[in-house]
Amino acid sequence: TALLQVNQISKQYGNETLALSDVSFSVQEGEFVSVIGPSGAGKSTLLRCINQMVSTTNGAIQFDQKDVQGMNKKELRQLRTKIGMIFQHYNLVERLTVMENVLHGRLGYKSTLAGMFGFYQEEEKRRAIELLEMLGLGEQIYKRCDQLSGGQKQRVGIARALIQEPRMLLCDEPIASLDPNASKKIMDHLHSISRSMGITALVNLHQVDIALRYSDRVIGVSGGQVVFNGPPSDITEGT
Ligand code: ADP
Ligand code: ADP
Repeated sequence: TALLQVNQISKQYGNETLALSDVSFSVQEGEFVSVIGPSGAGKSTLLRCINQMVSTTNGAIQFDQKDVQGMNKKELRQLRTKIGMIFQHYNLVERLTVMENVLHGRLGYKSTLAGMFGFYQEEEKRRAIELLEMLGLGEQIYKRCDQLSGGQKQRVGIARALIQEPRMLLCDEPIASLDPNASKKIMDHLHSISRSMGITALVNLHQVDIALRYSDRVIGVSGGQVVFNGPPSDITEGT
């Protein structure tokens, strides 16, 4: 059975913009799926509907066979630990250290207080260090995030998501602000994390070539609708 099922959802902002219209697809556990399409196609809205940062106007979304719409606050918090989010602009607390940003992911708002009083558990710190070393940030652990390159910041974002032990990562244009070298590094990390940890990935990208290279399946979105859904080979053969 699918880990994520999206059934005929639509999203209208205000009275005007129909950002998504009758979108349906599913994602199997462990799959690495890219969502491609031009700017304004609705990719970001789609990811935000899945973790309910944005509410859908119509349709149903099920994660792990549970409807995400109508979840109460506690259920939403649980959902958002199981679905890690990676952003184009990293969304780090720049004046805090790499370590603090990662532990922040673990504890949410409580960690600010916990951090001030040094209340992190040793086990959590060990796990954070392990993840940061895996991501090649062993030398950066106690640096402030405003000292890092873009690629390094995005790897901190990945560690912050992973420390919650998510089942799925939603990545919203994770490489759109990075140069080709840093982009490749991030995509390699995301792919190997998905494969080795069995974490399902849904990644918004506007670069078709990169989507084709890394994905098990590609979903094409245009004007708020799914216009393609298939393996990369279906695209390469047809062009
Ligand atoms: P993409 O991620 O593919 O660039 P988005 O989901 O960001 O697409 O945007 C889809 C459409 O919805 C666009 O027309 C955009 O202007 C509109 N839109 C996105 N967010 C909002 C919002 N918060 N309020 C109103 N319109 C929005
Ligand atoms: P990455 O692949 O992590 O993005 P880069 O090739 O961008 O790495 O950067 C290489 C090195 O240069 C990094 O170790 C980083 O410390 C340094 N660096 C790059 N950009 C910046 C920046 N804007 N501010 C501070 N250091 C930077």
